[in-house]
Amino acid sequence: MERLKILFASSAVAPFAKTSGLADVSGSLPIALEELGVDIRVVMPKYASVANGPDETTIGKNIKVYFVPHEDYFVRKELYGDKFGDYRDNLDRFSFFCREALERCKRENFRPDIIHCHDWQTALIPVYLSTLYKYDPFFAKTKTLFTIHNLAYQGLFAKEEFPKMGLDWVLFHINYFEFYGKINLMKAGIVYSDAISTVSPSYAKEILTKEAGCGLEGVLKTREKDLYGILNGIDCTVWDPATDKKISKNYSVDDIAGKYVNKECLQKETGLAVDRDIPFFGIVSRLAEQKGLDVLGEIIDQFLSLKVQFVLLGTGEHKYHVLMQKMAKKHKKNTSVNLKFDAALADRIYAGCDLFLMPSKYEPCGLNQLICFRYGTVPVARLSGGLKDTVTEFDAAHDTGSGFTFQDHKGKDLLAAIKRAISAYRDKPQWKALMARVMKLDFSWRNSARDYIDLYTDILNRGS
Ligand code: ADP
Repeated sequence: MERLKILFASSAVAPFAKTSGLADVSGSLPIALEELGVDIRVVMPKYASVANGPDETTIGKNIKVYFVPHEDYFVRKELYGDKFGDYRDNLDRFSFFCREALERCKRENFRPDIIHCHDWQTALIPVYLSTLYKYDPFFAKTKTLFTIHNLAYQGLFAKEEFPKMGLDWVLFHINYFEFYGKINLMKAGIVYSDAISTVSPSYAKEILTKEAGCGLEGVLKTREKDLYGILNGIDCTVWDPATDKKISKNYSVDDIAGKYVNKECLQKETGLAVDRDIPFFGIVSRLAEQKGLDVLGEIIDQFLSLKVQFVLLGTGEHKYHVLMQKMAKKHKKNTSVNLKFDAALADRIYAGCDLFLMPSKYEPCGLNQLICFRYGTVPVARLSGGLKDTVTEFDAAHDTGSGFTFQDHKGKDLLAAIKRAISAYRDKPQWKALMARVMKLDFSWRNSARDYIDLYTDILNRGS
């Protein structure tokens, strides 16, 4: 059988550029697919972080990564916007990227069976294949899969920008691009792709509802039979406390003592009292409403008045920066707030904390809880989307469960889960068993990569 040929088009790929989980997925899923025999290549914009290097590199064993160069568009401090908001030429930037991704395939003579697109930044690829490239024999057999990593970020632009995409105005229509008078790239991606997937089975169901559909639930319903939910995995060689060079001491499930060294080092680093027995909570997150910071805000004062320590690492909305700074000032003794993006500190938090807060309002998949499991750090999580599919409530009587969970998006329910976690933490043997259990969970890409191969194959077998 011929090898499946996949072009993986993404606006962010770790380790080259990362602002969120999309980059983790784009940097690790292709490697898992290659291991299963897929001929896969990756294409991403040539951002400032790679601007001085060549237009091509490799990851995994031999996966070509094509960087699309454009000095004006991509050599900037951030990927999508700065403190003043989204870059005003994002439609120019990403329509250019989508065109170039297709042109690059032709120049490299790589005829993909499937172009696997991710989020609004690549949504124009399926559109272009069905319009500008419709009669191009090079792509005659190419199909598309569009993966939604977060439905809330849709790529909305003013109607007046429509000509920038080089498409016929007839497509500015409610059945294609139009969304309440604006251009909506996510919508077009959903309409034009051969299949759509999202990053957990639960989120695939949730986005069909008004509560989580972000206004696109109607369009998604029309594509329901082509909509799949495949859980994200993590690269267990990257996220591994036994080999992670960024943490203070390596450890593993068979030799957990190093975790306490990491706790002590993190306490010192963050200026908190060195205390092995105090429950140490962490957060590493974009500071956005999605992450449940309002619910945390309702009870943060009560939470920090408990006998706990808390370290936060994150950047995002100004109001949350203000809230966290205020709390750090008020609860100096047990709180460390770090308002920045810092990959190394993130690892030290995963390794050094006992517990991790994820009170998300919604969570398409969430990678933090999966990373935490690897490091023996137990999540306190709201059961939404991927959190529902990966975290189960701790049950002391049966020695089961992997975290402390709550359903209603309410401060009091989060606080109750935190209190259950603290009381479980006090029983040392029980806690050790819980740590060992979560560290043994397997959320590697292996299973999910197989699901993607099945889906690619299914799309190809459908015919046109
Ligand atoms: P999302 O994609 O919604 O931001 P995920 O949980 O899927 O959330 O992925 C978040 C990824 O981004 C994780 O790898 C996490 O470590 C990383 N991350 C988020 N904020 C920061 C930060 N301030 N510093 C370092 N890493 C961060």
